[in-house]
Amino acid sequence: MKCRRCGKQAEIELRSHHTAFCRDCFKLYFLRQVKRAIKEQHMFSPRERILVAVSGGKDSLTLWHILLELGYNASGLFVDLKIGGFSEHAREKVEKFAQKRDAKLIIVDLEKEGIPIPKVVKKTGKEPCAICGQVKRYFFNRIAYEQKFHILATGHNLDDETSRLLANLLRWQMSYLVDQGPVLPPAYRLVKKVKPLYRLTEYEIAAYAFINNIDYFAGKCPFSKGATFLRYKHYINQIEYEFPGTKLDFYQGFLKKMKPFLTPFQREETTSSQVCPRCGYPTLAPLCGICRLKEEIEKAG
Ligand SMILES: [Zn+2]
Ligand SMILES: [Zn+2]
Repeated sequence: MKCRRCGKQAEIELRSHHTAFCRDCFKLYFLRQVKRAIKEQHMFSPRERILVAVSGGKDSLTLWHILLELGYNASGLFVDLKIGGFSEHAREKVEKFAQKRDAKLIIVDLEKEGIPIPKVVKKTGKEPCAICGQVKRYFFNRIAYEQKFHILATGHNLDDETSRLLANLLRWQMSYLVDQGPVLPPAYRLVKKVKPLYRLTEYEIAAYAFINNIDYFAGKCPFSKGATFLRYKHYINQIEYEFPGTKLDFYQGFLKKMKPFLTPFQREETTSSQVCPRCGYPTLAPLCGICRLKEEIEKAG
């Protein structure tokens, strides 16, 4: 197979686009997809300070790598979940990555916060992926706001977005659907959130990371085994395999044709008086979810 752009031997086949590229042309294609996402969705400008939520995996480190390469002012934020045999390896990759590029890295240590994930799961019996997501979201939002970043960027890819969209559509989760999209506007004490890799698949990101020698952590979280979000990913990939191009069409179609109708389902915005008295995080409850969780863990001893 020949590269569609230059005619040389192709190395990466993209069935969804009915095309194939050599290494150099694939890099160009990939960067163009990211730039297009940033521009079309009005994500950020070169002057804005960006905080990239990094896990140590291929998606977030590729995103950080590209933003730095494109000259953006991008710092990293890593939440050390303290999951044994997992978090320490991920942290090491992130620290090395930042060191090599002389980039600013912020680390939140959940042990110091009193809520390491394994302890929370053990004491509360809560579903690990749900609680982990809630804790990470809290620190991403809080640090981005407190340290005056303009933008919070995450490495969500097309597979993440479409599998979540499918799951939410199957249950008509209107309040979740309204929040789906590559850009979430800022709200009270919450900075704007963006997903610059939303047009790219997991496969494309893995290929890009490999070609660019991005040293990421490929380990899987021991808690995620059999998680439902992974099953939805599997189903959407099965559809994509039979009908190449469906994933991108599905997502773009949602953004263009359905999202505009979802405004009535938007939640009420919190006002200035509605913040957690302990940590200042916006909440409608007397204490925010994380401060409540901390209290619960303390009581359990
Ligand atoms: Zn080429
Ligand atoms: Zn709080």
